[in-house]
Amino acid sequence: MSDVRVRFAPSPTGALHLGSALTAVANFLFARRAGGTFVLRIDDTDPQRSERRHERSIRQDAEWLGLRFDEGPDEGGPFGPYRQSERGPLYAEHVERLLASGAAERIGHRDGTDEGGPGAIAFRVPRRDVVVPDAARGDVRVPAGAMEDFVLLRADGSATYNLATAVDDTLMGITHVIRGGDHLTNTAKQVLILEALGLRGPRYAHTTLLVGPTGAKLSKRDGAPSIAELRSEGYPAEAVLNYFAQLACPAVGDDPYLLGQLAQRFALGSISRGESRFDRGRLDWLSQEHLKRLNPLELARRVGAVLEVRGVVPVHPGQMVALASGLVGCHTLLEAADEAEAVMLAPRSPVGAAAEPGLAAVAQAFVEARIGWPEAFLSPDEADELIAEVRAAPAVSGLARGEVQRALRRILTGRERGVGLRYVVAAVPREDALARADRHLEHA
Ligand code: GLU
Repeated sequence: MSDVRVRFAPSPTGALHLGSALTAVANFLFARRAGGTFVLRIDDTDPQRSERRHERSIRQDAEWLGLRFDEGPDEGGPFGPYRQSERGPLYAEHVERLLASGAAERIGHRDGTDEGGPGAIAFRVPRRDVVVPDAARGDVRVPAGAMEDFVLLRADGSATYNLATAVDDTLMGITHVIRGGDHLTNTAKQVLILEALGLRGPRYAHTTLLVGPTGAKLSKRDGAPSIAELRSEGYPAEAVLNYFAQLACPAVGDDPYLLGQLAQRFALGSISRGESRFDRGRLDWLSQEHLKRLNPLELARRVGAVLEVRGVVPVHPGQMVALASGLVGCHTLLEAADEAEAVMLAPRSPVGAAAEPGLAAVAQAFVEARIGWPEAFLSPDEADELIAEVRAAPAVSGLARGEVQRALRRILTGRERGVGLRYVVAAVPREDALARADRHLEHA
């Protein structure tokens, strides 16, 4: 392992949202690239809003994305505890030093800041500009006027975010902090705290702020999805990881890449600054590309998991596999599951033959052809042969090739379009296929 140590420091006050995920991905890729250590540190400095269940869901979503923590509350490690709420004595000790040197003072009366009631301890901000060394932007100067004295310890003795973060980044040997540009003023405060303590801080890199399609800050209220929502919408984790890697560091390139390749291409010096727009179309494209690259067994497994939640079970374990190659063109796992469901369940309402004249003839030709194939499932090549037999039947000679194909799909799935017909014909079990065709004949 190299000396590089980075951390992801989520506040456990809600689900993992996109902005945090972007930061987490950037830190993780940087650690991977350097062969360094990725630490999970829980920023539960807000006792009112922090909850263990949020910590669990954030961890789950991060792990779903493919992030792996080397140290953390569950992993352990030499720098614990990894929840800031459990590190109170360490913060108190550092505040004593700041009080002793005059860098901090006890507030005797309310000073106007939210947390600064009597008894709280505040940092006295020196009246000078603060230079924040930034690995991506070079030195950034935060003007003296941008900061007021700020609270380090609340009256109840609990540490605030800036104190806890400055102290822990140092004590935990964090070498690089990559986080959103909205934290720049916080960084300046943390630099001041560390300077006053005579401690060496990490290197910082401020990255992009994620904005919505209209350019406004992404927020829950504007319908910004959480990671959990993207997952339940059926985006494969690889695609979401890839998309965040692109947002954090466009230099990774536009092509679909997996974790190892993304880490290789990640460069701290070229992380994106300013704003990036959350672009659903881009994510959809990456999703489709990653689904195309999954091997059919793995795709079958994932689609099967979505179907299981819906209570749809393949009639035969082989059915999903027979179908999977046909699902590779789908945009999301949900779309793939819809396709699979149409193959597995009989169409709800068969269209009457009267509505589409070719239907009865195709159904008849299909029944005759399918009877000749005793197997429950066919290979896609066998399905091609069977479709050719249907097309060659004298009863359908008046129909164009496309009409026969459309009718057959309609008969088997009730749908107008979908995955390649050969996969449908291959994956609808013989008994079901004959029954579905019969229903159309009854209506004729
Ligand atoms: N909990 C803070 C956040 O999620 C951590 C910021 C930091 O990385 O220091 O914004």
